[in-house]
Order: sequence, then structure tokens, then C-alpha cells
Amino acid sequence: MYRFKHHRPTTIDEAQSIFAACDDPSYLSGGMTLIPTMKQRLASPTDLIDLSQVEGLTGITFHSGLVRIGAFTRHAVVANSAEVAKAIPALAYLAAQIGDNQVRNRGTLGGSVANSDPAADYPAAVVGLGATIVTSQRQIAGDTFFQDLFETALEPGELITAIEFPIPEKAVYRKFPNPASRYAVAGVMVARFPRGVRVGVTGAGPCAFRATALENALNQSFNPDALNAVEIPDAGFNSDLHASAEYRAHLVKVLAKRAVQALC
Ligand SMILES: Cc1cc2nc3c(=O)[nH]c(=O)nc-3n(C[C@H](O)[C@H](O)[C@H](O)COP(=O)(O)OP(=O)(O)OC[C@H]3O[C@@H](n4cnc5c(N)ncnc54)[C@H](O)[C@@H]3O)c2cc1C
Repeated sequence: MYRFKHHRPTTIDEAQSIFAACDDPSYLSGGMTLIPTMKQRLASPTDLIDLSQVEGLTGITFHSGLVRIGAFTRHAVVANSAEVAKAIPALAYLAAQIGDNQVRNRGTLGGSVANSDPAADYPAAVVGLGATIVTSQRQIAGDTFFQDLFETALEPGELITAIEFPIPEKAVYRKFPNPASRYAVAGVMVARFPRGVRVGVTGAGPCAFRATALENALNQSFNPDALNAVEIPDAGFNSDLHASAEYRAHLVKVLAKRAVQALC
């Protein structure tokens, strides 16, 4: 590791002021991605702004058909929340599938979503449930938040404070995990709302996206066979040592069918 300054603000304003005053700062949440990245010299921030003591970034609340989860809430808290399991069982299940106990006890919702790792699980829920990203400055629709590989709509210094997930009639998340890391080779969230069906996909492309062809088919007829004729083009999909683009496209359809089967 190299030398850097560690700051421990207690308010959102203080965190943002420190960020604005530093050369090359980075917020530090669970550190599950940032610290290994620094160790490998893939990032070398001059200042780490630790969010662990910042007021108002934790907690799970329920209001107006939404589950609001603070950005610093760790994956294990979501996975073990009886209230989340009751309101959106698929979200608690998704959190329980992330990595291992150590990762779930350190990693946070805000860190995962801000990072926009193409294989992370939460982005499928953000897109699939039509969540809203609440930041220090504004509210961002989940549909427009993830922009590319490790790129989001966040401006420099903008801090995610919470994420609001609409409560669906029902939803299911299915993923094909990498056997070592448990990251999603592909993952699909299918959610039914009174307004229609939403399908969020992670792992397959550079960032999470809505599978509108699958949504259209399911809005016509909500059963797994309705997806038989849907083509999932693999253009632009990730291709690496874990899976080819073609295989990921195949997985998206298989996982979507399994999710719909479970919902039926
Ligand atoms: C071995 C291993 C296995 C894993 N397996 C999985 C898996 O199966 N599925 C999965 O989804 N994930 C997996 N992860 C990732 C993990 O779940 C964390 O969610 C992820 O590392 C980022 O969260 P964090 O809280 O650790 O963020 P950090 O590492 O602290 O930060 C990540 C990035 O987000 C920024 N950031 C953090 N919080 C905020 C905020 N509130 N506002 C704005 N920017 C912010 C930081 O500046 C940094 O750039 C795995 C990680 C490891 C190490």
C-alpha cells in the first residue's frame, strides 16, 4: 500500500467539502472493491473519505410503497432483514447471494451501485425494480443511472445517500454465479407491477440494462413459454474467460424463464 490521507467526516456536507478540497479523493464505503484496487495500483487516490461515521447513510425504512435503504447499509443487513424479506423477498435473496460472509459483512449497497461493476448483483434490482438513486444533490432514475463499464450518472463528489425500491406485486432474481467470486456471469430480476413487467439484467453487458424484448413478451403473456421466441442479441455483450457473449445471451433467456417459472 502507498501513503494516502484518511478522513472520517460525520455529515454529508463535511464529506463533500473534504472531497472538493482534495487533489484526487475517493469515498470509502465497505472498501471491498476500492482497497484491492488500490493494492493493485489500479487506483491511487490521495485521500480516502471514509463514510462509516456519516449520519443518515444507514437504515431501512418503508413508506408510500417504497423500501428506502441507506447507502452505507451492508449487504448482510439487507439479506437478514425480515422487513425487506416481507416487502421484496427477491431483494433480500439477491443480497444473500452476494460473495461470501466476509464480503456481505463489509460491502455496502451504495458502494456496489456507485461502482457499476458489470457483474454486480444490485444493479439488476435497481433496473428491474425501477429504483431511484437518491444523492446529495438530486434523485436519479435507476434506468439512466448505469452508463457503461464502471461508469454511472454520478458527478464528481456526488454522494449516494439512499436507494428507493418500489415494492412490486412480486419479483424473483436468478443468477448464474461465478463459482469462485459469486459475481454474476449473468443475473436477471423479473418484477411484476400493476403497470407491467420489468426485467433488469446484470453480468451480460458492460452495465445493467432493461431487457425490453423480454418485458414486451411477458406483458403479452406472463409465462415462461412466452419467452421462447424472443431473440437476445449478443452484440456488445461481455466476452471473457468466464463466458462468451453468445453464452451470456443464452443465460439471460434461461434465467429469465426460470424467474418467470418461479413467479408462476
Ligand atoms: C471476493 C469478492 C466477491 C464479491 N462477490 C460479489 C458478488 O457476488 N456480487 C456482487 O454484487 N458484488 C460482489 N462483490 C463486491 C462487493 O459486494 C461490494 O459491493 C463492492 O465491492 C462495492 O461496495 P463497497 O461498499 O465495498 O464499496 P467501496 O469498495 O468502498 O467503493 C467502491 C466505489 O464506490 C464509491 N462509493 C462508495 N460509496 C459511495 C457512495 N455512497 N456514493 C458515491 N460513491 C460511493 C467509492 O468511491 C469507490 O469508487 C465481491 C467483492 C469481493 C472482494
